[in-house]
Amino acid sequence: MGLKKGDEYLKSIKSLGLKAHVLGEKAENLPEHGLVEPAQKAVAFTYDAAQDKETRDLFCVESALCKDVVNRFSHLHQSTDDLVNKVKMQRYCGIQTGCCFQRCVGLDAANAIFSTTYECDQKHATDYHERFKDYWRWIQQDDLVVDGAMTDPKGDRSKRPIEQSDPDLFLRIKEQRPDGIIISGAKLHQTGMLNSHEILIMPTLTMRPGEEPWAVCCAVPTNARGIHYIYGRQSSDTRKLETYHLDVGNPVYGGQEVMTVFDDVYVPNERVFMNGEVDFSGVLVERFASYHRQSYGGCKTEVGDVLIGATALIAKMNGVDKASHINDKIVEMIHLNETIYACGIACSTTGEQTSAGNFQVNMLLANVCKLNVTRFPYELARLATDVAGGLLGTMPAAAELEDPLAGKYIQKYLSANTQYKTVDRMKVLRLIENLVVGAGAVGYLIESMHGAGPPAAQRIMIRRQAQIEEKIDQVKAFLSIK
Ligand SMILES: Cc1cc2nc3c(=O)[nH]c(=O)nc-3n(C[C@H](O)[C@H](O)[C@H](O)COP(=O)(O)OP(=O)(O)OC[C@H]3O[C@@H](n4cnc5c(N)ncnc54)[C@H](O)[C@@H]3O)c2cc1C
Repeated sequence: MGLKKGDEYLKSIKSLGLKAHVLGEKAENLPEHGLVEPAQKAVAFTYDAAQDKETRDLFCVESALCKDVVNRFSHLHQSTDDLVNKVKMQRYCGIQTGCCFQRCVGLDAANAIFSTTYECDQKHATDYHERFKDYWRWIQQDDLVVDGAMTDPKGDRSKRPIEQSDPDLFLRIKEQRPDGIIISGAKLHQTGMLNSHEILIMPTLTMRPGEEPWAVCCAVPTNARGIHYIYGRQSSDTRKLETYHLDVGNPVYGGQEVMTVFDDVYVPNERVFMNGEVDFSGVLVERFASYHRQSYGGCKTEVGDVLIGATALIAKMNGVDKASHINDKIVEMIHLNETIYACGIACSTTGEQTSAGNFQVNMLLANVCKLNVTRFPYELARLATDVAGGLLGTMPAAAELEDPLAGKYIQKYLSANTQYKTVDRMKVLRLIENLVVGAGAVGYLIESMHGAGPPAAQRIMIRRQAQIEEKIDQVKAFLSIK
């Protein structure tokens, strides 16, 4: 098949005929829905960038699996350079789209499943790895988008899957058949689900003996029978449906999260990559989470770049750009943002080869990266709000500009540095609003906190990876303590 162009990707998604519940209605023509279209355009950008002669060296890479040139968003990393290039590519996508471009979760899932299935086969004499290779070869050759589905609803957090009032609160294998399995449950918060061709399902936590039905990893097409989609709301999302796009903030692109229900979905054996091997569920979760925590070193810094650029511009527009405290705040934003990026690069350059042959990030540094992401974007948002001024929360609607009376007053009283048009100042304020409290804040702030797991999950991994006992022994040796 070869690499698709953005419009070919959009056609291929349309041909799936996906339907979803959106804003209380059953939406049939999703690609034309005002909420969905910006999210699909953001994914289409990742296809066009692979065609663009300026960026194709970063986006295209030869696959060790299919021996062909593939989009890096479906690549199994073959070196630490590949890991670094992934982060660079993510940063580039974000500065161009100003939002989540949704294609990383499937990439991170694939790399984690590739190495986990290999090790599982060694121990249990299963054949998941070859199955997965066949599957992923097809994904690469057809240049498809894959949703990475890990997060279960989880019900009462103090209870194990088996103790929940409803066993479907963790997605499970409901029935074993000679030719496949039937799965039942849901995955919440699914990024870019309705812009994907396929779904890779993984367990949400380390399963224990007795919890075999919940230790499941498999792939299904997004248009498989029995799957239902319920669209996630974002703050100010209906502005995308209004006539005046200035109020949206991000003029072209947007993110997407979807609640996805699997109501007795059949999965044939060739698409099953874990079926009850509880001892590998935790390995898969940790590896996926670490790749995804690395991803934020690229994708959150790029949105940070947009916010920093918008903040520096609004400072000029407001006439405060020469003030030393404003400059300090912008430098602080850059410092925090580049610290996140540095962690993304560091966990990539110190990554290591797995026994399956692909490369895994340095788990300690990937978790440090994500723990910083749970804090720094909030501080960037605070500083941007400080610099932008109160209009961020009180500015009249763009539609008022058309009104002879209101429009005249807005032009007069919202004018600041006369080198800039009032309408341009409004655009910048709306972009900042989008990122700090609007639809963009879902990706920039809430996802920074919870995506790839909440902060406590990173702290556990940091504690586990930090080799504290070794450090204690080193100090004892240094001080001659027996
Ligand atoms: C914008 C966005 C995009 C996302 N995209 C995806 C995606 O594409 N694919 C995907 O699979 N997931 C996705 N996620 C889900 C994300 O991984 C989860 O939100 C995250 O793992 C936290 O889970 P939760 O939301 O259920 O919160 P909870 O797990 O309920 O966490 C809430 C708080 O409770 C604490 N807590 C939870 N359980 C316990 C416990 N047993 N004991 C003590 N404390 C506990 C946590 O530490 C946290 O402080 C996305 C999330 C967001 C916000």
